[in-house]
Amino acid sequence: MASRAERREIARFEAGAKLAVFAVAAVALAIGGVTGFAQTFAALAILAVGALAVAGIGYLILNSKLVARKKTGLMLILIGSAMALFWSLAKAPKQWREERAVVTSVKGPTAVTETTYVFHPGKSKSGQTLAVTQTKEWPKLADAQKFKPAPITVYYNRSNFSEVRFEATSGWGRAAATPTSVQVRKTGEATAILRLGSPLFPKTASTTGSHAEEFVHGASVSVWINPVARDQLSFQPRATEGGQKYWILAIGVAAVLCGTAAVAVGKQWMDTSDTSAIADRLPSVDAGVFYKPKTVAEMLRGIDWFQFEAVAARILESEGWSVKKNGGAKADGGADLIATRNGRKAVVQCKHWKRIEVQPNIVRQLIGTKFGAQFKADEAMLFSLSECTVAARAEAKQNDITIYNAGMIEKAIQGIGLDKFPELTNPDDKSCPKCGARMVLRDKVVPPFWGCSTFPRCRGVIERA
Ligand SMILES: [Zn+2]
Repeated sequence: MASRAERREIARFEAGAKLAVFAVAAVALAIGGVTGFAQTFAALAILAVGALAVAGIGYLILNSKLVARKKTGLMLILIGSAMALFWSLAKAPKQWREERAVVTSVKGPTAVTETTYVFHPGKSKSGQTLAVTQTKEWPKLADAQKFKPAPITVYYNRSNFSEVRFEATSGWGRAAATPTSVQVRKTGEATAILRLGSPLFPKTASTTGSHAEEFVHGASVSVWINPVARDQLSFQPRATEGGQKYWILAIGVAAVLCGTAAVAVGKQWMDTSDTSAIADRLPSVDAGVFYKPKTVAEMLRGIDWFQFEAVAARILESEGWSVKKNGGAKADGGADLIATRNGRKAVVQCKHWKRIEVQPNIVRQLIGTKFGAQFKADEAMLFSLSECTVAARAEAKQNDITIYNAGMIEKAIQGIGLDKFPELTNPDDKSCPKCGARMVLRDKVVPPFWGCSTFPRCRGVIERA
């Protein structure tokens, strides 16, 4: 029995699928028109299913636990195969697409009629019989075919009967001529103008030839369209080779070869059981780029200010101090840590700044904290990742403030052993500065941040480095 959430998910999927089918149908209707709809819809549907399949397989590959190089290799194989398949489909012979077209005009063919007349020159009716041919041009073959000649008058040269004219000529004899035969001769070809395509994107095509003679203005006729070169028309069913784009095959094959090489070489799976160990292994692969394991300096920059306090505390503890955190996020009185050793008390300030130099005023604040009524400390220390200005160092020296700079901190960590600093080797295991509970990365918001896992009970946050 599906739960309510599952049923809602299924309903949402069904609605999405219906919407997709309607969208494809609308596009098919717009491109193919009513008569080309079925064929266009089928082609678009195949294209959509293919694209979905490639996207689905790609999604599975990208979300697998393979190393990035293998993912890249498999993606190359997938895309290369799709390109080769597309190429072979494009290469296959294609049936020309049948479409209905409307004849918007027909011109020609022009024609001539050759009419033979007979007449009797001279006065006597019993004299010789002569024949003469009259040629007439017709803009339309049909009109020429309908032509029924009537008896006419011809004019002949009395001294030369073979010279005959159809227009009145003075001095020449005239005689009644009777038509005996008409020959119709086609002179030129018919040209028809057609309108085709969808009602949204109509196209005009013209065709010249004997087939166009039978076209009647306003009638609907079948035309076949070359699917590769769409301006070619035929008035009989035809098939043609597909457009062979060899560069598609070349890139596809190259992608498959590169992908195979990437998959065949090296280790297959990301080691997810111990993510902290990945940095220690060399060479390691991340997003297809080789990188060296992080240096201690890089690790120090990668942690948050609260982890930096913990690192400072561990260094002091290794020097024999017992260290107490002074409230974390609620730090007050200007000290992050309170350290004691052999009855002496020290206030400790930690500055996990990465770019801003420490100015003398920070040192002066620490001096104030050291002598303030709250702590009455004997010593003061400043842990700083960023450099201190010359003036700040001078001020510190004058007032007996110990500065642990980045170089000293690194050296101390290396002396103690990096493995004693889980804050550095496993920086994503953070604890809340307010309550000490685990922090979780809230990455559904922009910008992402680390928030207390006990939210909303505790609202402790750490900015993401
Ligand atoms: Zn918390």
